[in-house]
Amino acid sequence: MRRLLVAGNWKMHGSRADNAALVGEILRADVAEAGPEILLCPPFVYLWEVGRLLRDSSVALGAQDVCAEPLGAHTGEVSAGMLKDVGCTHVVVGHSERRALYGEDDQLVARKFMAAQREGLTPILCVGETLDEREAGRTAEVVLRQFEAVLAVAEAAGFGSAVLAYEPVWAIGTGKNATPEQAQEVHRLLRARMADQDAKIASCLRILYGGSVKAANAAELFAMPDVDGGLVGGASLNAEEFRRICEAARGQET
Ligand code: PEP
Repeated sequence: MRRLLVAGNWKMHGSRADNAALVGEILRADVAEAGPEILLCPPFVYLWEVGRLLRDSSVALGAQDVCAEPLGAHTGEVSAGMLKDVGCTHVVVGHSERRALYGEDDQLVARKFMAAQREGLTPILCVGETLDEREAGRTAEVVLRQFEAVLAVAEAAGFGSAVLAYEPVWAIGTGKNATPEQAQEVHRLLRARMADQDAKIASCLRILYGGSVKAANAAELFAMPDVDGGLVGGASLNAEEFRRICEAARGQET
């Protein structure tokens, strides 16, 4: 039995005032009541304050990125230990925007995954193909390459305390989500690859879908047998939309 996880990736949005209003509305809506585990991932500078706002709630705090190094002369970077120190339990690694805009390759993503785990954070590893790759029939090759680069260093055991997120790049921020069947096909492939290494870990591994998840499509995506929740960007900035996405996860334990 896998409990669904709905994670809000705020990307580079927010202000102290906007965050307080958004978190207030989300908490008032009692999103966790619907059953899924809920996680909010604000920008680094707001982590501490959002963490305070979430205190005494069942909504968890996560970061959107982490440095691969534990400490030292890395100007501008934030370590896993620091994220833990301000109350994070999760961190997103390998988001396609980091890969495409900031040159993160599979090896760096793997190092970030390991850095997070060394501090006891749960990494949410993102994998996904571009539109060109999908149209060239390379979806399986690309997502498996991204997954296996991390599997090679973390080994199967590393995924006993991690989350995977399938995020087709062509669906992120475009309003054009993968169909439930397209998502399920890739999720099943990823779980099967995990099962080659360890069937028990594969059956417990949560694989989120991300890419234009909204209230209108969440229920049908979450109904797929290998879709264990969502990584939600734009729609997580609207409390009512986010509440309805969490609501769609009710009773959908996979
Ligand atoms: C994301 O930021 O990971 C994402 C999936 O964004 P959106 O929901 O806006 O497509």
